[in-house]
Amino acid sequence: MNQFLQLEGKPKDDFYQAKYDYYKYFNLGIMFASSLMFFILFITDWQLYEQGAWRSLLLRSLIVIPLAVVFIAYRKTNNYKIMSTISLVMVHAMIWGNILVVSYMSNLTYLNEGFLIMSFILLLVSFSAPPFYAMVAQLGLIGDILLANHLYHFSNLDIMLAINIQVIILLCIVDLIVTRFYYDHYVTQKKLNFALFHDPLTQVFNRQQLHKIMGEGHDLSCLSDHIAILIMDVDLFKQVNDNYGHDEGDRILMFVADCIRNCLRGPDLVIRWGGEEFVVLLFDCPQEQASQVAERIRRSVERSVNGVCRITISVGVAIYPGGDCFAAIKKADQALYVAKHSGRNKVVRYEDLSQEELKEAIKGQTDA
Ligand code: GH3
Ligand code: MG
Ligand code: MG
Repeated sequence: MNQFLQLEGKPKDDFYQAKYDYYKYFNLGIMFASSLMFFILFITDWQLYEQGAWRSLLLRSLIVIPLAVVFIAYRKTNNYKIMSTISLVMVHAMIWGNILVVSYMSNLTYLNEGFLIMSFILLLVSFSAPPFYAMVAQLGLIGDILLANHLYHFSNLDIMLAINIQVIILLCIVDLIVTRFYYDHYVTQKKLNFALFHDPLTQVFNRQQLHKIMGEGHDLSCLSDHIAILIMDVDLFKQVNDNYGHDEGDRILMFVADCIRNCLRGPDLVIRWGGEEFVVLLFDCPQEQASQVAERIRRSVERSVNGVCRITISVGVAIYPGGDCFAAIKKADQALYVAKHSGRNKVVRYEDLSQEELKEAIKGQTDA
C-alpha cells in the first residue's frame, strides 16, 4: 500500500521534490500566516498580562528575521531538502520566540496551548516535506518542551508531555496519510505526462516532445551549440506487414526503436516521426560524428536478429544551423529521399548532395 515508503534513490528524490513543488506556495502561505499570528499575539499578551505589551511587541516583531531567511532561501533554491529544513527550523524559531515572550511576561500558564498550536503549524508546514523530516520536527517539539522545562520548571510537565505526545503521534499519522494521497496524484501525473510525450508502441518520444523543447520560432539553439538531425525510415516496411502481419510489423518497430536508443548517449532524443520513421536529435555532436552515429545505427539494425525477418533502414543526416528546426528536418528528409532512391540501407548527408540530387529530392518531397 505505502509504495512511497519503499522508494529509494532517484525516484525517492524525484517524488519528494515533486511533493515540495506542489505544496511550496501552501508552505510559504502558512509560514507567512503563522508569522503574522505570532506577531499579532502581542495584543493577547497585553490582554492576558496587562503589562509589558511593548516588550512583547518588540520581541514578536523579531519574527521578520527568520521569515526573511525563508523568503530569501526560497528565491535562491528550489531544493526540497534545504527548503524543508529551513521551514521546519523556522517553526521551531517561532516556538522559541513564544517561549521567550511568555517567559518575559513571567507567566507560563498558556504555554501548553502554544505548543499544541505550533504542533499543528508544524503539520501544515510539513505538507511540503518528506514524512521523516516532519517526524523529526515533531519530536523536536518534545525536545523544546523538555529544554524549556529545564529553564522555567513547568508545574504541569507530565500533563504537557502526555497531551503533546498524543497529538504528535496523531499528526505524524496525518502526515503519512497526506503523503500517501499525494503519491497517488504523483503517479497519475507521471503516467499522463508520459502518455502525452511518448509513443505508446515504441516508448520513444512523440512529436509533442519536440514542441515542448523548442524555443520561439521552432528554435533549438538554446539546447546545444552543435545539433545534428537524423531521420530514418525502415526499408520496404510495407512488405514486412504484407508478409508477416501487422503485429510482427509492430514488433519490428519496437526492435528498431531499441536499436536506435542503444546507439545513443543519454541526452540525445529519439522521436517517432511517423509510421516507420524516426527522427533523432544528437546534441553536442559535430558533423563527422553525426554520420558515424547514423552509420552505427544503420549497421546495428542490419546485423541484429529481430526474430521476424532481416530488415534495414535508410538514414538522412543534416546539421542544424540554428533557426527553424523543421527546415533542418526537411533537409535531413531530402538526404533520406536520396538514400531511398539510390539503393536503400545507407546513410546520406544533406551536405554531400549534388545540385541534381537536391532538385530531385525537393521535387519528390513536393509530389509526396
Ligand atoms: P520504403 O523503403 O520506400 O520506405 O518503403 P516502405 O514500404 O517502407 O514505405 P511505405 O511508406 O510505402 O510503407 C510504410 C508502411 O508502414 C505502410 C504502413 O502500413 C506501415 N506502418 C505505418 N505505421 C505502422 C505501425 O504502427 N505498425 C505497423 N505494423 N505498420 C505501420
Ligand atoms: Mg519505409
Ligand atoms: Mg516511410
